Amino acid sequence: MHKILGLVLAGLLAGTAHAAPPHYKVAASFDPAGKLDADVTVTLTEALPEKAFLLSRRFVLQPMKLPKGVTVTSENAESPVEELTKYIFHFARPTAKPVDLNFRYSGPIQTKYDSGAPALRPEGYELFIDHMWFPVGADIQTRFTVDAEIEGLEPDLVVVAQGDVTRTKTGVKIHRDFIDIDLPMVAMRGLKRAEAHGVEFFSRDLTSRLAGFHVKNADTSARYFETLFGPLPHTVRMAMVWRAKGLGYARTAYTVLSEGGRSAPDIPEIGPARYVAHEIAHAWWMLASPLTDDFWLVESAAEYMSMRYVEAQFGAVELQKNIDAKVTGSKDAGPVMGHGRPNRVQLYGKGPLILWDLDKRIGRPAMDKLMITMAREPAHTTPIFLKHLTEIGGADAAKWFDTAMHS
Ligand SMILES: [Zn+2]
Repeated sequence: MHKILGLVLAGLLAGTAHAAPPHYKVAASFDPAGKLDADVTVTLTEALPEKAFLLSRRFVLQPMKLPKGVTVTSENAESPVEELTKYIFHFARPTAKPVDLNFRYSGPIQTKYDSGAPALRPEGYELFIDHMWFPVGADIQTRFTVDAEIEGLEPDLVVVAQGDVTRTKTGVKIHRDFIDIDLPMVAMRGLKRAEAHGVEFFSRDLTSRLAGFHVKNADTSARYFETLFGPLPHTVRMAMVWRAKGLGYARTAYTVLSEGGRSAPDIPEIGPARYVAHEIAHAWWMLASPLTDDFWLVESAAEYMSMRYVEAQFGAVELQKNIDAKVTGSKDAGPVMGHGRPNRVQLYGKGPLILWDLDKRIGRPAMDKLMITMAREPAHTTPIFLKHLTEIGGADAAKWFDTAMHS
């Protein structure tokens, strides 16, 4: 009896390990007035009893033709952003054979609430996961490959996206053979392109000081991180957009920054240097769940690496200013962990400071070994980090770190 269960379990584990990631086939049409028509087929190849997706409620979904043995229920959801529908698919006979789920829907590309980064602006489109314009795995951890054909883009829109990007007269084809949780795209008028080590950079003005500092520090920080982690897995496409909100974000091989009113003629280098180094560091630090405690392994880790770059490139005085600002800003931050996704101050202030203290505590060679070992892990969770920390820095250091993150 136990033997049989053991075999079944081994079979399941092997199946999981070798399952292809989900694949999205996206046919979308944008009209300049802001309406989206979409036909998205999600192919799943993992045997699951249930799988849920989120899509914004501003879209009207046509009745779905479901494969045999698959049923769907839906409910409203207000998290991680407002006005979502959660579609929960139930599989009567979970199978690792490919199952296609086809979503056809239409509605406004613009969200109802103000995100600070509208999907459609006079200069063009900026689309990312927050707009919930395609069915997003409800765990916000469903990484997929994608083939997308997007129609309705005027010829003067410059498209920045992941993977192989082919601009056509009326749209764009995107073929991405690497996995990510998002299908991000910038399609804007007036973007110009520059190249640096590991980076393709797009901006409406490549001659501004801000753009220059971004390109230069993307290049030097990429080279610095490569001495630790090895070659950048992909060239990073980086688009600097212009909107009031300073929000920036990184996906695999893709980053969006905002001029955000920062492009003054006398802007000092250190701000954009820190910022862009943080985004480049996400090439190795982006694998933890954004919905849980573990998200510090994305943001605090990238910010700690940015501090390392500041120290290496700008010296101890600049680093100390950075540390002082974080100490002041996070004095009432509360615990980083123990309450779900940490808040901003915990992620960007307190978390990186604790990592910096850990660095001093176990010493730079051990810290480097820890970060290099962790960066190679296919999934990033706190227990995996603590396991490596225990092995490399000792049980006391791991206990200290865990306590510091929880207090
Ligand atoms: Zn970040």
